Amino acid sequence: MALKESQYIWLDGEFVAWKEAKIHVLSHSLHYANSAFEGVRAYPTDKGLAIFRLKDHTRRLLNTCKMSLLNCPYDFDALNAAQIELLRKNVFAPKTSVYIRPIVFVGYGVMGVYHLNSPISAAIAAWEWGAYLGDEGLENGIRVKISSWARNSVKSMMGKAKVAANYLNSQMAKCEAIEAGYDEALLLDSEGFIAEGSGECFFIVRDGVLITPPSDNALESITQDSVINIARELGVSIERRRITRDEVYIADEAFFTGTAAEITPVREADARPIGEGKRGELTQKLQEAYFDVVYGRNDKFSRFLTLI
Ligand code: PMP
Repeated sequence: MALKESQYIWLDGEFVAWKEAKIHVLSHSLHYANSAFEGVRAYPTDKGLAIFRLKDHTRRLLNTCKMSLLNCPYDFDALNAAQIELLRKNVFAPKTSVYIRPIVFVGYGVMGVYHLNSPISAAIAAWEWGAYLGDEGLENGIRVKISSWARNSVKSMMGKAKVAANYLNSQMAKCEAIEAGYDEALLLDSEGFIAEGSGECFFIVRDGVLITPPSDNALESITQDSVINIARELGVSIERRRITRDEVYIADEAFFTGTAAEITPVREADARPIGEGKRGELTQKLQEAYFDVVYGRNDKFSRFLTLI
C-alpha cells in the first residue's frame, strides 16, 4: 500500500517538508540496523484527534534506546511534545486515523560496527493509515501460517527492544506467509511455544477464557496490555501462559493485537479453521470495546488519550 504523504516530518528538532526529510546513504543505521522506532496511532474523537497511549510509546522508545545503546538526544517530554506538534502542523482528512512513526537512529560520520562515536538523530513522521491487515480482515478474520522461522532467541536478540534489527526476522516470516498464500505469520519461540506475529501479539479464547503468552519472547505490546485492561473491565477471565501450536488449532477464537493491526481476528491457522472459521463472539466484543476506547467513547479509559 502506497504511503499517504502528509506535509511535514520532524527531523532533529525542525519541521521539514515531507520530501526534504532525507539522510545520507552512509548513515550507520542503514548498514547495521540499530535504530529504535515506535508505531503510535491517533484517532479522531469528538474532541479532535487524540494520540493513543502516547507516553507509553515514548517510554518504550526510550527503553529501546537504552537497551540498544542509543544515546537519544531528546528526552521524554521533548519527544512527546514533538509528536503532538507534528499532528497539529499536518493537515489530515477528518475521521481518519493517523499513524505516527518516531525513529531514533545512528547517523552519518563513522563506519564499522562500533557505533558509540557516531551521531544520533531522531525523526517523527505521521500519515493517514487505515487497517494494517485490511478492513476485510478486521471483520472476517485473516489466515495465519505458523512460520518456519523461530522468533529471535532471547539468547541473541532483545525482544523487548523495538529495534530495526529485530525486524529481519519479522520480514522473512511475513514474506514466507504471504508467498504461501496466507495473510500473516505466527512465530514460535525457540522452544516451540507461541511467541508473536511478525508485528502483533497473539490471543486465543478457550472455553470463555482469554489466553495470551507472557512477554518472554515478544515485544511488550501496548495493545495487548490495553486489551487485557478492557477484558478485565468486561469481567472476562484472563490467563497469561504459554500456548502451544496444537492449542491454537483447537482454540475457539484467536486474534492478533497491535497498534497497526488493532484487533484482527484469526479465522484459520495452517488450513485449520479456528472455531467456526470466522470472527469469534468475544473477539468482536473486545474489538468493539477497543474501538470505543481509542475513539474516545469510553470515559473509563480517557487516561489513555492525549488530545491534540
Ligand atoms: N510484536 C511486534 C514484533 C511488533 O512489531 C508489534 C507492533 N509494535 C507488536 C508486537 C504489538 O505491539 P503494540 O501493541 O505495542 O503495537
